[in-house]
Amino acid sequence: MAIDEHELAAFTATIRDFAQREVAPRVAEYDAAEQIPRDIVKQMAELGLFGGTVPEELGGLGLDHVSYAKIIEEMAKVDHTLGVLMSMPSSLVGSGLVKFGTPEQQEKWLRPLAQGEIFGAAGVTEPQSGSNVAAMETTYRRDGDDFVINGAKTWISNLDLASFIITFATADRSLGRAGISAFIIPVDSPGLTLSPFKDKLGFRPICSGEVSLVDVRVGADALVGEEFGGYAVAMNAVEKGRLSVAARAVGLAQGCLDDSIAYAQQRVIGGTAIADHQLIQAKLANMATEITAARLLVHDCAHAMDRGERGRKQASMAKMYASNVAQRAATEAVQIHGAYGVSPEFRVGRAYRDSKVFQLVEGTGEIHLQLIARALLKGE
Ligand SMILES: Cc1cc2nc3c(=O)[nH]c(=O)nc-3n(C[C@H](O)[C@H](O)[C@H](O)COP(=O)(O)OP(=O)(O)OC[C@H]3O[C@@H](n4cnc5c(N)ncnc54)[C@H](O)[C@@H]3O)c2cc1C
Repeated sequence: MAIDEHELAAFTATIRDFAQREVAPRVAEYDAAEQIPRDIVKQMAELGLFGGTVPEELGGLGLDHVSYAKIIEEMAKVDHTLGVLMSMPSSLVGSGLVKFGTPEQQEKWLRPLAQGEIFGAAGVTEPQSGSNVAAMETTYRRDGDDFVINGAKTWISNLDLASFIITFATADRSLGRAGISAFIIPVDSPGLTLSPFKDKLGFRPICSGEVSLVDVRVGADALVGEEFGGYAVAMNAVEKGRLSVAARAVGLAQGCLDDSIAYAQQRVIGGTAIADHQLIQAKLANMATEITAARLLVHDCAHAMDRGERGRKQASMAKMYASNVAQRAATEAVQIHGAYGVSPEFRVGRAYRDSKVFQLVEGTGEIHLQLIARALLKGE
């Protein structure tokens, strides 16, 4: 563990202070504008918020997964989309480079990523294969020492900030997962086109969209891990990603609870604070209980990863449950706020929109039920 309990408490307090001071007053505005302000990202880099679990010798903070989950949760209480940026170097984008990258790739891409000097994107989802990664249709062929990639990815996040995309292609669709390789593709590569989507229901400050690849040519230094080893790179990335999503969902839910407690005490109707009604109290009690359970699942997953395990089943349980808890907490928070719950003046409306998206990203709820059941039936 790179930091002890006291250092973690101090780091968490720094994030809380930053989030309250710099983020809370601006998040509604940049959510509407659909762009995270660059000066906020710059301040986050100065605070070292991108280092996460990336080892110190590779430019990161070398945090254990439990500490990492705690700092992601802290930021997510105010804005989980900044938690997306914080998590990328430790999960979807960087974890493949930590585990499978060459020293040259780590120096060129991972170190600046962990220090917030550059950003990356991870392109797994395709128009015809979201839940079933092995069915991807993006192909590559060898041409001398180069690889030439053709296809499309969709709903890829960070398109406004990314300098490179870690993406996946198959040499032969009939091979399924055994045909897939992982590549680093700089965004200025000829043949690569990024087309951001506008006006999403939630996660609005995150720029997500389509990536088109037409005869994109990369050298041998772009291959991450072994050729045909791309499926393992993708699974490593999404499992770390699921821990991060789950921690963000807990943070969003906790923010909803904190706001609901405050509002219920200050909203007085007919001389009675709504917090005095047992039906409102029951909502708060259920929210708090579920959030605590979700947090424990997140920490259970993080402990498994700290023991060096994949934590596959735990990641699915934490991601699925925490996303559902976030969705229920946001729904109850809007209910407690009454009409003000749908006003931009209060942040629970934004949480309500975002919480639905949690149930879709990094594996839908249905897919996680399948993964958990499959693990159980295998005796895992
Ligand atoms: C805001 C946002 C950001 C995203 N960022 C990224 C990113 O950075 N990188 C990336 O690669 N992807 C990203 N995604 C994509 C996301 O991971 C996918 O949307 C998700 O994996 C689901 O895929 P799909 O949308 O194609 O749904 P589908 O696979 O088309 O599923 C549609 C429905 O069918 C259900 N379904 C599918 N298969 C089965 C089955 N076998 N049994 C039962 N039900 C099934 C699903 O649960 C779902 O309810 C992002 C998505 C969003 C919304």
